Amino acid sequence: MRPFAYARATTFDDALEAAREPGTTVLAGGTELLNWLRLGIAAPDRVLDITHVAGLDRIEPLAGGGLRIGALLRLNDVAADERVARDWPVLREAIHKSASAQLRNLATIGANLLQKTRCAYFRSDEPVPCNRRTPGSGCAARNGHDDRHALFGWTDDCIATQPSDPAVALAALDARVVTRSAGGGRRIPVTDFHVLPADGVDRDTVLEPGELIEAIELDRPAPGSAYVKVRERESYEFALVSAAATVELGDAGRIESARIALGSVAMRPWRLTKAENLLANLAPDDPALTAAIDAALAQAQPVPGSAYKLAIARGAARRALMTAAGVGP
Ligand SMILES: Cc1cc2nc3c(=O)[nH]c(=O)nc-3n(C[C@H](O)[C@H](O)[C@H](O)COP(=O)(O)OP(=O)(O)OC[C@H]3O[C@@H](n4cnc5c(N)ncnc54)[C@H](O)[C@@H]3O)c2cc1C
Ligand code: SF4
Repeated sequence: MRPFAYARATTFDDALEAAREPGTTVLAGGTELLNWLRLGIAAPDRVLDITHVAGLDRIEPLAGGGLRIGALLRLNDVAADERVARDWPVLREAIHKSASAQLRNLATIGANLLQKTRCAYFRSDEPVPCNRRTPGSGCAARNGHDDRHALFGWTDDCIATQPSDPAVALAALDARVVTRSAGGGRRIPVTDFHVLPADGVDRDTVLEPGELIEAIELDRPAPGSAYVKVRERESYEFALVSAAATVELGDAGRIESARIALGSVAMRPWRLTKAENLLANLAPDDPALTAAIDAALAQAQPVPGSAYKLAIARGAARRALMTAAGVGP
C-alpha cells in the first residue's frame, strides 16, 4: 500500500474545499476504499475523512411527501427509519439484502452507489488485462470467466456489472443523487448516475473530481414496492441478478403504473421501460405480465457465459412485480 496523508473535515464546506486538491480521495465508512488501497485500485496522495462532517447524517421530509437521505447515513440506519420501512419498502429490502449486518453498520448510503464492479479480474491481486484497472490492457473476462457479467449495455472494452443493491431500488423509485462541488450543485437521476462502457471505462459515475454526494432524494411514497435478490447463498453475497419493482394499482385493481429495474446485469441499474409501458391496465396476476417482461428482456444481448442469467432476471422481475402489487409470486 502506498503511503498517503490523512486529513479530517468537520463541515461540508471544508470538505468541498479540501476535496478540490488533486490526489485527494474522501473516506466515509471505508468498507470499499480500504480494499481499493490494499489492491492498488486507488492510490491517493491524501485521504480526507468526512465521517465527522455535520449535517450529512439526517433523514428529512421533503415537500410533496418525499424524503431526503443524507449521504453519510449508515445503511442500517436508513433501513431502520420508520418512514423508509413504511413508504419505500423496496429500499429497506434492498439494504437488508446488502452485505452483512456488520458492514451495513459502517457502510454509508451515498458511497454505496460508488462501489466498483466485483469482476474477479478487476479485483485480482495479480495484474491481469483489465481496461478498468490498466487502461488499454484489454478485458480478460471477454474471453475468460464471464459468468457473472452483463446482459445489457456492454462493449468489448468491458462486460462488467455494477453490484449495488440500493442503487437498483433507487433506480426503480426514480430517486436523485444530490451533489455539491465548489462550482455549485446538481440533482442527478440515479438512472443516469453510472457510466456505461460505451461512454468510457475510465470512470464509473458522472461525478466530477471534487464533487461530493450530499444526499439522495426520494419522491412520493411507493408503498407498493418490492426487491428480489437472487444469489448463490441467502446471506452475505452479491447478486447474480436482482429486481426492484414499484406498482400503483387503480380502482379496479389493475396496474396504473409500474417501474422495474434489474441489478447486476449492466454497469448501471437497468430499467425495463418496454415492460413498464406494456403493464398498464393489466391485472397483477395476468399471464401477460410475463409477456411484458419477456418483451423487455428480448432487448438483452448477454455475454455468452451469462446467458443463463436471463431466466433468473425473468423470474426475479415477475416476483418483484407481483409482490409489489400485493398478489405474491
Ligand atoms: C465484503 C463486502 C460485501 C458487500 N456486499 C454488498 C452487497 O451485497 N450489496 C451492496 O449493495 N453492497 C455490498 N457491499 C458494498 C458496501 O455496501 C459498500 O462498500 C459501502 O456501501 C460503501 O460505503 P462506505 O461508506 O464504506 O464507502 P467508502 O469505502 O468510505 O468509500 C467508497 C468510495 O466512495 C467515495 N465517497 C464516500 N462518500 C462520498 C461522498 N459523500 N461523496 C463522494 N464520494 C464519496 C470514497 O472516496 C470512495 O471512493 C459489500 C462490501 C463488502 C466489503
Ligand atoms: S469486464 Fe471490465 S472490469 Fe472485468 S476484466 Fe473486463 S475490463 Fe476489467
